[in-house]
Amino acid sequence: MKIHLKQIPAKGLHLDGDEECPIHDLEAEGIRCAGPLHYNIDVGIAGGALWARGSLLQPVELSCVSCLEKFVHEIRVPGFAVHTELHGPETIDLTPFMREDLLLNLPAHPRCDKDGDRVCKAPKTEIAGQDIKRKSDWSALDKLKLKT
Ligand SMILES: [Zn+2]
Repeated sequence: MKIHLKQIPAKGLHLDGDEECPIHDLEAEGIRCAGPLHYNIDVGIAGGALWARGSLLQPVELSCVSCLEKFVHEIRVPGFAVHTELHGPETIDLTPFMREDLLLNLPAHPRCDKDGDRVCKAPKTEIAGQDIKRKSDWSALDKLKLKT
């Protein structure tokens, strides 16, 4: 996202909105943008430098390392912060800074059950689930036996 320096008032500027996903080029690595980048930042100019701070949220589709299924993960950058010297140009592009922070917050080994809102279907989990089911089947049978 490009910011015109002249548009930043002395007291700073609050920016809150959506921007095109800045990590489209990672699709070859199995990381697909699942929506726009949401930003909520404050920017300002002080002493010949531009500062920005706030938070970023980028939904992406990743592949689980265990079951290989695709799932949506939200990359959260709660402490986005930039401090960069200004050298002449009247606009500054924050996209490279946002991109870098998103990449730093990408999970190295994404698991679909990490957020706790779904159960990973990897073979290990499946066997455990089958065991529980079998046990409960037996207990139902036991109850039946007691009745008769
Ligand atoms: Zn999984």
